[in-house]
Order: sequence, then structure tokens, then C-alpha cells
Amino acid sequence: MDLPNIETYLRPKNLQTINNWDKDWAWLAGGTWLFSEPQPQLRVLVDMQFLDWSEIKIQEENLLIGATCPLIKILQYSWQSEWTAIAGLKSAISVLAASLKVINMATVGGNLCLALSVGTLAPIMIALGAKYEIWNLQGEARLVAAEDFQIGSRQTILQPSEVLRRVLIPIETLKWRVNYQRFGIAATDPALAIVVSAYNPENLQFKCVIGASVPAPKLLDCHHININYSPFLKNIEFINNPKASATYRREITQTLIKRSLHQLQLTNTHA
Ligand SMILES: Cc1cc2nc3c(=O)[nH]c(=O)nc-3n(C[C@H](O)[C@H](O)[C@H](O)COP(=O)(O)OP(=O)(O)OC[C@H]3O[C@@H](n4cnc5c(N)ncnc54)[C@H](O)[C@@H]3O)c2cc1C
Repeated sequence: MDLPNIETYLRPKNLQTINNWDKDWAWLAGGTWLFSEPQPQLRVLVDMQFLDWSEIKIQEENLLIGATCPLIKILQYSWQSEWTAIAGLKSAISVLAASLKVINMATVGGNLCLALSVGTLAPIMIALGAKYEIWNLQGEARLVAAEDFQIGSRQTILQPSEVLRRVLIPIETLKWRVNYQRFGIAATDPALAIVVSAYNPENLQFKCVIGASVPAPKLLDCHHININYSPFLKNIEFINNPKASATYRREITQTLIKRSLHQLQLTNTHA
């Protein structure tokens, strides 16, 4: 949709040319969200397209994915076959397949920074032990663990004018087995619950992250695949709204964890 209140559109080639950032400015990545509803609070859009931040590459111990990497690139990229966790990453993106337009245009950074409670990438980034590199306009960088980035629905720790530059995923965790589970009333409905489980068969290390049923994705404090996970859900405050009650979301989350564990163990048995 048109955003008639936008007065200025910038297309910087680097951050140093951006001055006087104000509260009515916003980064523009794929624009799939920004142009999907009125944004009366905004006057200036800063298009990230020319920053050239869409890389996928290996650097030292990490896979780097640039913030403006379109989601479709992750589906189509020629990944190393031993990186079993990529299947989970692809699943997280494929669930958006209801809207091809979104997958083609939307970016990794846009999905993470939008920070919807139903956000599809955040839970898997947490399960993979990802870190996010955040830049300010002076070009200074800081690293934040994925689990500390989103602090609520539509809330991140980004300060005004800060930008997510890229995601760093340890190569080691790319060799883990990852299972992505999502439940919505219909395939095109927003998720009511997401569960991502990640398992390292070499040392039995295990991680389980829940999303969509809670305002921000949450890493459960259980580290073994055979543990009884129910107590970990008891003290969590699940979203309670007209779409689904907290009790229902907790139950669905438990069911998805069970399914996820089952599939990971099956995969492991057949390995
Ligand atoms: C019809 C529809 C259905 C959708 N369903 C789902 C769903 O089920 N699950 C899901 O996860 N998502 C869903 N989305 C959201 C979709 O994934 C987002 O539109 C998309 O991820 C945003 O990416 P973008 O690159 O287009 O971001 P934009 O629309 O360009 O930006 C989104 C927000 O992030 C900010 N931003 C973008 N990049 C950065 C950055 N690098 N640093 C700092 N801030 C940044 C922008 O300023 C803006 O506030 C849906 C969207 C639509 C339109």
C-alpha cells in the first residue's frame, strides 16, 4: 500500500552518510511488512538495498548471513550436505510459503527485527546458538546472543538508529539435527505455537525453543533429549487472547515438543 506520510526516502551506500536519525525514521529492508499496513508514525524510510548486506559466507567458525539476505535465497542456496540443521532453517521459511511474495522479498533481518511473536526465524536462530551483529551509525558493532535479542512482541533490544547487520551461526551447530514444528488453525493462519528442537548426537546436547505461544521466543532450560520437559512449561506465561487461550497454547506446545522429540529420535535411530 502507499504510505502517503513518507516525506523522505534515502538509499545510502554506507551508514556514515546518514545523519540526524529521528524517531519517525525506519530502516526499509524487503518492505513486505512496512508496506502491508499504514505506518502513520513514519516520515523517513532508509532503504537498505544499496548497503550490499545480503551475503551468505563462512568466516572462521561461523556461517554469516547478511541482514538483507532474502528468505528465498536460503531456500535456493547450495548448502553443504553435512549441515543437517539447514533443513530446519528451510522448514522455518517454507511455512511462509502461503505468500510467495513475502518469501521473495522479505529478508532475514526484517523478519528478526519485526519481532512478531509468530516470527518464524527467531526460534531457530536461538536453537542454533546464533549471535546477531548490531551496528550503530558510527559503524561500531556489538554482538548479542539470539536469545537476548527479542524481548517481547514487536520489541527488540535495538536502540533507535541501530541496525542488525548480520547473523552469525556457529558451523558446529549446523551439524546438529534440528526439527521445526508449527501449529496454526489453517496453514495460512499465523502460528499458535512453534517448537524448534536441536540435538547433537555426538554429545547428546539438546536445546528446545518455543515461540508463537509466548510473546518472545524462549529457550527452555532442559539440556537432554530424554528429560521430562513438562515442568519447564509450568511457569511460563503463555499468550492468552481471543485466538487461543494460554491453556490451549501450553497444551499445543507440549504436543509439538513430543512430536519434535519423536522425530529427532527417529532420525537418530535411522542414522
Ligand atoms: C501477509 C503476511 C503474512 C505474514 N506472516 C508471517 C508469519 O506467519 N510468520 C512470520 O515470521 N512473519 C510473517 N510475516 C512477516 C514477514 O515475514 C515480514 O513481512 C518480513 O519478515 C519482514 O521482512 P522485510 O525484509 O520485508 O522487512 P520490512 O518490512 O522492510 O521491515 C520490517 C521491520 O523491521 C525493521 N528492519 C528491517 N530490517 C532491519 C534491520 N536489518 N535492522 C533493523 N531494523 C530492521 C524495519 O524498520 C521494520 O520495522 C507476514 C507478513 C505478511 C505481509
